[in-house]
Amino acid sequence: MLAAMLFLAIACPAHAGLRLDGQMTQGGMIIGHADPGAAVVLDGQPVRVAPDGRFVFGFGRDAPPSAVLQVSSPDGQTEQRILAIAQRRWDIQRIDGLPPSKVTPPPGLAERLKRERAAIGAARRHVSDAMFWAETLVWPSRGRISGVYGSQRILNGVPKQPHYGVDVAGPKGSPVSAPTAGIVTLAESDFYYEGGIVIIDHGYGVSSTLIHMERVDVKTGESVGQGQRIGLLGAAGRASGPHLDWRINWNGVRLDPALAISPMPDN
Ligand SMILES: [Zn+2]
Repeated sequence: MLAAMLFLAIACPAHAGLRLDGQMTQGGMIIGHADPGAAVVLDGQPVRVAPDGRFVFGFGRDAPPSAVLQVSSPDGQTEQRILAIAQRRWDIQRIDGLPPSKVTPPPGLAERLKRERAAIGAARRHVSDAMFWAETLVWPSRGRISGVYGSQRILNGVPKQPHYGVDVAGPKGSPVSAPTAGIVTLAESDFYYEGGIVIIDHGYGVSSTLIHMERVDVKTGESVGQGQRIGLLGAAGRASGPHLDWRINWNGVRLDPALAISPMPDN
């Protein structure tokens, strides 16, 4: 057995420089380690690589069962890996017979919602050179997980946008902190759906979005450190009760925060 493993290790020298850490599954965030100076391409799209060879990428909720990762070393060697992406089952809830007012936002809100969508989109497109995504994440709030990534509701037969965050229930007014350091690219206290919202750019296209806060303590453009308080937990915006909803994006791809962090510690 050991001999066979040694043989494999020796027979595949191209694999020596490449390591991938993370969960190869829908919503998973992967941190790669290649040789310094390597070029990385995922499904035909270039992935930004740090001078030390580290890089980050992830898979969306509806990612197909495989992806192709190509890593070219500065010495001209190219390794292609087919990544198997585990497919998950999502919690789908059908609710019928709701009054229409519960399913569509009230009229007259279109302009406001459009403006808020645009602000969120612009904040998430902010890409910096920071490498805070490589740090071990800490939970921005502690408590019972009351909502999971990927779940979806079908209201009166109309599929709503899947839930892309992990919800942590907690007492109103408890602190919410930065899961890892970064630059605040959006800090607003009263968005229609989100209530108090903070978006933090962790670098290389990775960002955290934290919503439903009843108070926001940071400003756009501010640098925050890991664990720094950014606001207070609440039920602001369209929230059924006090909780923090935390989302992670990688360049427009929604990742599952629960897969990027160690399990919630006992409280
Ligand atoms: Zn939520």
